Amino acid sequence: SAKDANGGVYRRYNAELESTWQSRAFILHELETALAEGQFEIYYQPVIHARNGAISAEALVRWRHPERGVISPAEFLPVAERMGLIGKIDDFVFAQVCFQIRHWQDNGMGDIAVSINRSAQDFGNLTGRLDWVDYIQQHEIASHLLTLEITEGVLLQRSTETRNLLRHLRHFGVRISIDDFGTGYSSLAYLKQLEVDYLKIDKSFIRDLETDANDKAIIEAIIVMAKRLDIGIVAEGVETESQLRLLTELGCDWIQGFYYARPMACPDFEQFVRDWRKNVSLGKHIF
Ligand code: C2E
Ligand code: MG
Ligand code: MG
Ligand code: MG
Repeated sequence: SAKDANGGVYRRYNAELESTWQSRAFILHELETALAEGQFEIYYQPVIHARNGAISAEALVRWRHPERGVISPAEFLPVAERMGLIGKIDDFVFAQVCFQIRHWQDNGMGDIAVSINRSAQDFGNLTGRLDWVDYIQQHEIASHLLTLEITEGVLLQRSTETRNLLRHLRHFGVRISIDDFGTGYSSLAYLKQLEVDYLKIDKSFIRDLETDANDKAIIEAIIVMAKRLDIGIVAEGVETESQLRLLTELGCDWIQGFYYARPMACPDFEQFVRDWRKNVSLGKHIF
């Protein structure tokens, strides 16, 4: 009967909802535990200057789960965003990177610039968040060694809070980089309104660079525009030597990708930096 059918539908709906809420609550609990117990870890991927061999890095968060092993950000960041926990994770990454930059300076590694990602969600809303500028000042962090990577979506928010935060950070020496450039609603207007230090060409343009004339044309145009605007260019997702060659020919400044190295745990990254700098000082042309 209709009543049975309704009852059935109702029960099924309820069961789905229940399992959704159970897993949500479970994941929320897991993420909070991860924050409280220090299960998040920062990996560093080298970013290499294509002409002088200078080395910097991008900080990329990993979740070292006690049972499930290392979990990639693509898996847990969207959940953390939905749960409203992304701000806490980004603040943790920020403070950890600040500590690391200072630690390298104090322990003979010198200056290593690091770029950090900050989620577009609630970007300018500072309620309950770490005050990054305050933190930089209190801990006397060399702010020019910090780059904040934001997506085009952040700039399209056009909120006063967002603009103020970006201006404030930049005023204190933090560099601003547009991540995944070309994949969002690339409104070029913001490039003149807001001072931006770097554009990061998304890896989807790099992948078929050698075979796809359109990708090549787009990259060429981005680089020419950036040069005119005095904005630095980073290419992400560079995996082959011929991609590297092409990008260097086109005038790309910085190269990041598996061709040089994958994101690495801190000790491995430090070893990479030592080896890299040694080779550069020996005049080995490896970039
Ligand atoms: P992203 O900021 O665009 O970072 C670059 C991603 O490309 C990284 O993935 C990196 O491992 C990957 N990659 C680098 N070189 C290559 C390459 O040659 N080939 C390929 N196929 N991939 C390459 P990952 O580490 O899985 O991070 C994914 C995304 O998660 C990041 O993309 C970023 O949007 C986000 N993310 C990572 N850490 C954080 C964080 O601390 N906070 C926030 N809000 N987002 C983060
Ligand atoms: Mg990034
Ligand atoms: Mg990127
Ligand atoms: Mg990307």
